[in-house]
Amino acid sequence: MDLVIARPEGLYCPPGDFYIDPWRPVDRAVITHAHGDHARWGMKHYLAAAPGEGILRSRIGADMPLQTLPYGERIVHHGVTLSFHPAGHVLGSAQVRLEYEGEVWVASGDYKVEPDGTCAPFEPVRCHTFITESTFGLPIYTWQPQAEIFAGINEWWRANQAQGRASVLFSYAFGKAQRILHGIDDGIGPILVHGAVEPLNRVYREAGIRIPETHYAGDFKKNDPMLREALIVAPPSAGGSTWMRRFGDYSDAFASGWMMLRGTRRRRGVDRGFVLSDHADWPGLLWAIEQTGAERVMVTHGSVAILVRYLREQGLDAQGFTTEYGDEEEADLVKEGASV
Ligand SMILES: [Zn+2]
Ligand SMILES: [Zn+2]
Repeated sequence: MDLVIARPEGLYCPPGDFYIDPWRPVDRAVITHAHGDHARWGMKHYLAAAPGEGILRSRIGADMPLQTLPYGERIVHHGVTLSFHPAGHVLGSAQVRLEYEGEVWVASGDYKVEPDGTCAPFEPVRCHTFITESTFGLPIYTWQPQAEIFAGINEWWRANQAQGRASVLFSYAFGKAQRILHGIDDGIGPILVHGAVEPLNRVYREAGIRIPETHYAGDFKKNDPMLREALIVAPPSAGGSTWMRRFGDYSDAFASGWMMLRGTRRRRGVDRGFVLSDHADWPGLLWAIEQTGAERVMVTHGSVAILVRYLREQGLDAQGFTTEYGDEEEADLVKEGASV
């Protein structure tokens, strides 16, 4: 019996009668993490990993009907044993382990295998069937170690300072922005953030994640000398908006896995692209799949057909799952000029 099937509302567990990250309103939703394509408004009941509670409430609503469960703790619902395990993607992100009559399935949600200090590191979970994402499921996607990426960002910031220019770094407001703030050298100069980033910083700080002191960029007047020393972290939607004018002369950059594709940086018209992703790269996906010991693999979002074909060549029973998951950054990359 399949413990998870694709339904028009989302991925559904028939014996448990609940959905995982549904994209339409349902009675019972199990949520892997708080990115917009996985956690949506309008469910009658939500179940999520405890470390994600603050983010979920700040994004969906303080009074949302949310039940939480610490990582590794089990609950039984209609005979299905359910537990959450760290996915290493963003604060609170979880894989969902389901066990029913001796069968074990794990739904990964989004995951990243390199630990980054802003969330619990990815933990492989043994299972018979693994539902994996494949956002960057092409062999061309291999990430450099993040220490090298952060060294590059620090160097870019210092070089801009030396030339008296502000450094504006675009990144997705939830997850990526906090990872950058956690990873950069905050001794270089002041750090300013866009209004979309700060509320999430607060939730991370409350969860005990080290986020350096940040100032609200909107409080600075144009030509304030501090701007020329500063790193400004802003969502992609701020690019090209009037909000940017206060920075005068600046260099801009974009941090995303999509920056691996040169055309993406050109389309964004930014000076620099830093390849920093919160998803597993191709070797990371293959490693994670192998670690589960699964013989059957269901592939969601991204390069489904290519990963499915590769896994079949390796002798696995692989197939695609049709979902409405997108990629939060990819969505932002095509959304131009909105001012927040
Ligand atoms: Zn995500
Ligand atoms: Zn996703």
